[in-house]
Amino acid sequence: MSLSRLSDLDIIMGFSTQAIHAGQEPDASTGAVTTPIYQTSTYVQEALGRHKGFEYARTQNPTRLALERNLAALEGGQSAYCFASGMSAITTVLLLLKAGDHVIVSDNTYGGTYRVFERVLRDFGLDFTYVDTSEAAGVERALRPQTRMVFVETPTNPIMTIADLEGIGRLTREAGLRLVVDNTFMSPYFLRPIEFGADLVVHSTTKYLNGHSDSVGGVVITTRPEDAERIAFLQNAVGAILSPFDSWLVLRGTKTLAVRMRQHDANGRAVAGFLAEHPKVRKVYYPGLPQHPQHERARRQMSGFGGMIAFETGSLAAARAVLDNVRLCALAESLGGVETLISHPATMTHASVPAEQRARLGITDGLVRISVGIEDVEDIIADLDLALGKQ
Ligand SMILES: *Cc1c(COP(=O)(O)O)cnc(C)c1O
Repeated sequence: MSLSRLSDLDIIMGFSTQAIHAGQEPDASTGAVTTPIYQTSTYVQEALGRHKGFEYARTQNPTRLALERNLAALEGGQSAYCFASGMSAITTVLLLLKAGDHVIVSDNTYGGTYRVFERVLRDFGLDFTYVDTSEAAGVERALRPQTRMVFVETPTNPIMTIADLEGIGRLTREAGLRLVVDNTFMSPYFLRPIEFGADLVVHSTTKYLNGHSDSVGGVVITTRPEDAERIAFLQNAVGAILSPFDSWLVLRGTKTLAVRMRQHDANGRAVAGFLAEHPKVRKVYYPGLPQHPQHERARRQMSGFGGMIAFETGSLAAARAVLDNVRLCALAESLGGVETLISHPATMTHASVPAEQRARLGITDGLVRISVGIEDVEDIIADLDLALGKQ
């Protein structure tokens, strides 16, 4: 099937079909079904100024290009650009701005995003205001004449607050601002930010898109030709590109994204239900629970709730007892892999967020985060039950 035929079919193909086929065609020279790893730094040119569209591998690589086309299709965007990490993807998006510009950001965003905004980009003249993006009014109040971008993470990490994408999308459209959504937690299988007016979508492909905890990467998906052109320029100019091997791994990962996400969601619901009933758990943060403050919005905005859960044990000692006694769940940073990972946001992922701000956001010393994997859910629950009993 040729690429052009596939793109003609894009509009009628379902998500799983696109995940497996979009951006990929059997290798022209050998018929290999799987896109090869083009491990090359350069390409021979037929004559001066005459080549096959590939000149130097920072600029173009066929394996990366296949992944970029695949991810653009899955997000419903125009084009995609892959980076060496989620952080380099996010940083490159911020390079669309100039000194003096102001950005409104979700107030419990990923710790690394907060760090690069506050401790790197602020030195280059960008200004940031952090607001609760569960209300569009919070964004509206923070608007200034210099505001150029709204950067939203939903659900937020690790408190799982759901942004009002519809309200914020309307606001940014009317005000002529770029809306950027970090869709790492839901993946395009459960949330399609572009349908709510996002101009750019970013991911850490390290998480659900790759899904197997064996690659670090990031992607920017664009919707407008002028942004696409500038991000492509910046990707080449700054050079934080995804390697051919990592591109191949993520391309392999997205083929099973739909089935993995369905299982993460089913297991996530079961684990959240178990925790909500457990006498030693004070509070559970999971958008699929009816008691979640934005549960109704989560149901409308997303087609699933995913596998990310945070819960309050009450103290550092109680959190430590859980984290030290789990045997199946791995004590580790990161998320979105097939294996269940458990972590302590206050000292791990959010250690770079100042203590007083952590307290304000609810990231207490007793908070534990789980990325529920796709093991047999009875085994995950039994492991947590045993560890909670050790307090
Ligand atoms: C992990 C993560 C990032 C950063 O991605 P890296 O691949 O680790 O650089 C950004 N945003 C969210 C929501 C993340 O979970």
